[in-house]
Amino acid sequence: MRQFARGVCARADSQGARVRRSSTDLARFAAKNPKGVRRATRFAGALAAAFLIVGTVAYAQESGTSAARDATTERVFSLPGSAFPGDCSPVLFFADADTYLSDGEARIVASDGTIVAKAAAFSLGTARSSREIMIAAYPPRAGFAVFIEKKPTLVALLALPSWAKPGDYDLRASCRASRFPSGPAREIAGERSFTVEKKKFPSETVRLNAANAAIKTDDSDERKAQIARLNDMLLNYDDAAPRFRGPFAQPVATKRRTSAYAHRRVYRYPNRSSTTEVHAGIDFGVPVGTPVRAAGDGLVVMAERRISTGWTVALEHEPGVYSLYYHLSEILVTAGDRVETGQVMAKSGNTGFSTGPHLHWEFRVNGVAVSPDWFTQNEIW
Ligand SMILES: [Zn+2]
Repeated sequence: MRQFARGVCARADSQGARVRRSSTDLARFAAKNPKGVRRATRFAGALAAAFLIVGTVAYAQESGTSAARDATTERVFSLPGSAFPGDCSPVLFFADADTYLSDGEARIVASDGTIVAKAAAFSLGTARSSREIMIAAYPPRAGFAVFIEKKPTLVALLALPSWAKPGDYDLRASCRASRFPSGPAREIAGERSFTVEKKKFPSETVRLNAANAAIKTDDSDERKAQIARLNDMLLNYDDAAPRFRGPFAQPVATKRRTSAYAHRRVYRYPNRSSTTEVHAGIDFGVPVGTPVRAAGDGLVVMAERRISTGWTVALEHEPGVYSLYYHLSEILVTAGDRVETGQVMAKSGNTGFSTGPHLHWEFRVNGVAVSPDWFTQNEIW
């Protein structure tokens, strides 16, 4: 018997999962949600004629012989096919009406097995309910399929480091699916080819005065402890983190960028030695005292003075997703505060390792420094 949704029917997948809701389940659901079902039924009536044709076509296509595994993969995962180094690739997981998904994970793997990016998926919570009502109102015997916009229930945000080599990779995703939240689960896996596009990051040379050279070469326990604490925080993946999908906003109103994301930097010291690093964020050339706004809704997880980065604010926006603001002159928030996009939370400055007044703005995803511009141009899901 064939039924609902997006040309994807009641076909059991390779593990023999049951995708069909029994009429007893439907009756129970309707009894519990009379209002929802009434609403859904009204909406359903309006859609019925339009979808009759679509459903018939979908039914015919589903009678074909495409592999069950492929159908499952397509139904559960939305897998991006390419990205530039420094960009993010959201992998979306869609649950069927009677399925709970958990333990989502995605990774980009090179042909020699090297993992270039890896992310655990976080849950988006309530995405199931609206579809469930619609499907409850459509018992299979109605004879047509209903095409309902699906919303992801899990997202894994893959962060490609700026040093990722262009070329062909595999993107692999997996999760566990169960009929009930804590019921027996089965593994579902999806895979597709993934291209890392070519992108060139320019190089620049920065001459350091004695004060900046001293910060760069400071090997005090205090500085080491500060670096370790920030790195630990950036690797922290907290499922209780806020859920802000974006788009994000630039924290200062200027077009003047004094250094770009992922510039390869050569630091020249007064003693003529040099080191090479990758610049992890964007530098905006703004005068001391310029209002610095939160790039997105989030939780203040750091607001303090550090040796290298001066007065520093860090915001958590999603599990594993952080934005950072360095070299500030003044901080107007404290750790634990909630902030909204555009809220003034600091003033720009020239503190710490800095060659002139500017704001350093950085994004980290699971510890990887990614392009802040990706976050102003995209939504996470
Ligand atoms: Zn910078």
